[in-house]
Amino acid sequence: MKGQMMNVPLTITEIMRHADRVNGDTEIVSVTYDNPRHRYTLSDAFSRTRQLANALKSLGLKKGQRVATLAWNDYRHLELYYAISCSGGVLHTVNPRLFEQQIEYIISHAEDTIVFFDPLFAPLIEKLQSKLATVNHFIALTDHAHLPESQIENLLDYESFIADRSTVFTWPELEEDDASSLCYTSGTTGHPKGVLYSHRSTVLHSLGSALPDAFGLSIDECVMPIVPMFHVNGWGLAYSAPMTGTKLVMPGPKMADGATLTELINNEGVTMTAGVPVVWLMLLEHLKQSELQVPSLKRIVVGGSACPEVLIREFDELFNVSMHHAWGMTEMSPLGTFNKLKPKLRSLADEKKMGYQLKQGRIVFGVDMRIEDWQGNQVPWDGHQFGSVKVRGPWIASGYYKQGESVDSNGYFDTGDVASIDPDGYMQITDRSKDVIKSGGEWISSIELENIAVGHPDIKEAAVIGVSHNKWGERPLLIAVTHDVTVTESELLAHFDGKVAKFCIPDAVEFINELPHTATGKLSKKDLRDHFKDYVLG
Ligand code: AMP
Repeated sequence: MKGQMMNVPLTITEIMRHADRVNGDTEIVSVTYDNPRHRYTLSDAFSRTRQLANALKSLGLKKGQRVATLAWNDYRHLELYYAISCSGGVLHTVNPRLFEQQIEYIISHAEDTIVFFDPLFAPLIEKLQSKLATVNHFIALTDHAHLPESQIENLLDYESFIADRSTVFTWPELEEDDASSLCYTSGTTGHPKGVLYSHRSTVLHSLGSALPDAFGLSIDECVMPIVPMFHVNGWGLAYSAPMTGTKLVMPGPKMADGATLTELINNEGVTMTAGVPVVWLMLLEHLKQSELQVPSLKRIVVGGSACPEVLIREFDELFNVSMHHAWGMTEMSPLGTFNKLKPKLRSLADEKKMGYQLKQGRIVFGVDMRIEDWQGNQVPWDGHQFGSVKVRGPWIASGYYKQGESVDSNGYFDTGDVASIDPDGYMQITDRSKDVIKSGGEWISSIELENIAVGHPDIKEAAVIGVSHNKWGERPLLIAVTHDVTVTESELLAHFDGKVAKFCIPDAVEFINELPHTATGKLSKKDLRDHFKDYVLG
């Protein structure tokens, strides 16, 4: 027997319709290339979205056609998110920080026909345009007065493109499994791979991620996403915030500017923000130096890579802000786990409590996870045994764009992460499968050692990689960047005593001026491994 409920497709158009009608007066504040503070409401946003949809139609946008954006977080990018996907097109958010060859590759691989770009990226577009054979139109996200001088052919400005278009548009009826958006993973080897989201996966991810024990979005919240809208849909906040009536504050190109972020938090009443750890290290330093407070800010969601303990501790002690670990990946839309402490854990002694806070969190509804050992057996949720993290669910990719399925025989996707889960359901990433250090018969977590290293007051940033060892196969090498101080190798290694088993303590330390990062701000272990490939310990 079947249920007798309506079969209404889950589409981004429905998020937009709901947000427009129910949350129309919700404010959107942006910093853009051409305006230090732009302010309007969701109703204004969707009125312009309909104008944009008419403009896209005039260019002949067809169902399934890919349209690229190279843009920061701001209101025009938000309008593109909705106009492209709800018109039946596929929004392809391109990470402008990738290498030029990668950008050329992914735009060509996606066969994008229109490229919308922030004027700050005009020099990049100028260089690439002759190689982007599929692209017919380049549109700069600004008005005519601010159009940059450039050699880009047939360059249009966004405001002229949508001006004088009707604010009435009849959105097409879409099926919920129609593609809505495309995002390429910033893999460290080989070509980037495309993850093709659907309307349904986007709606379900918005619902799941907005829940109280995840992002906790509501009309009481004001969110400033520092995670770029070109990095896994800005963790879905461009959908979940309008859906729930949460005010959005978007810092545009000023995402790494501590002064602008502090001013936005304090002037707009930001209650929650989200981004990768390097951003929070920068903001923490700025706040400490400027001696400013951020009283409205209650929560920071941190993900993309492991959050150092010092961030959690100092934001709490100095600014009364709680940091919450979230874990996921491009292939997961991205959310998989979120760390909010169960009431019984909040009263634990500091050190024990921190132990839980450092974990990546509990699985959100919608994600089915299993941790498998090297023989493919599920490991128990005892908080000790670890293995490969495999996931399954309606917002998890079943394969890559223009490639076949990439799930195992049980229908699960292998995340490439290694983790344990404790009896309370808190998952802890111990490493990427390829970063674990294999020393003799033991596996050593590079992340655990990095966390301990940055807990030393003289260490600014640290990475641990496995380097070859005659006896043990691999041993950990610590590569550290110090604050302006001289800490010695033996002092730093002594800091590990009692914090990990003896065999896990790195064999040596190399001090360098700067660690290499990937286009998404993560430590590039691949570059470090290349650099230290001839390093031999023992
Ligand atoms: P991306 O697809 O670029 O978002 O990268 C996803 C990968 O980032 C995951 O597979 C993890 O290895 C890593 N990652 C994401 N969030 C966290 C986190 N909270 N802690 C540690 N690693 C993380």
